[in-house]
Amino acid sequence: MKPLSKKDLELVEAVKAYAKEFKPKHWRGEHISSVYAAVRTEDGSIFVGPNIYQPYSAPSSICAEYSAIALAYAAGHKKIVTTVTFKYRSPKNKEFFTPCGNCREFLSMFGNPWIIVPKGRGLRKAKLSEMLPMSTQC
Ligand SMILES: [Zn+2]
Repeated sequence: MKPLSKKDLELVEAVKAYAKEFKPKHWRGEHISSVYAAVRTEDGSIFVGPNIYQPYSAPSSICAEYSAIALAYAAGHKKIVTTVTFKYRSPKNKEFFTPCGNCREFLSMFGNPWIIVPKGRGLRKAKLSEMLPMSTQC
């Protein structure tokens, strides 16, 4: 694992700012968004998206990483350089965490990005390939 660069810290600040701005959405009284992901593309662009949780059918939900990647992909980007995932429900209920296995596999379609992960009381980064065997190696 490596320490974060200045650009990594910008990505962290971007997801935190987005999470604080994006008011948790509700659908039929259910809380459906509380996780946010930011991705940085090769040209330095940043895309941030929320998860969308379907309370009555969890498999129909999408992770925040999918939202952020879809926005980048729709804008023409094919390579993700760095990503970070952040849960935010309130100023006292927030944390960074690693992408789930599905998201790691999905991310592998867009290169071998750095994944910003919690380590101790801070953040570090690791390559996706350190966190998930790449499908092409099977
Ligand atoms: Zn996921």
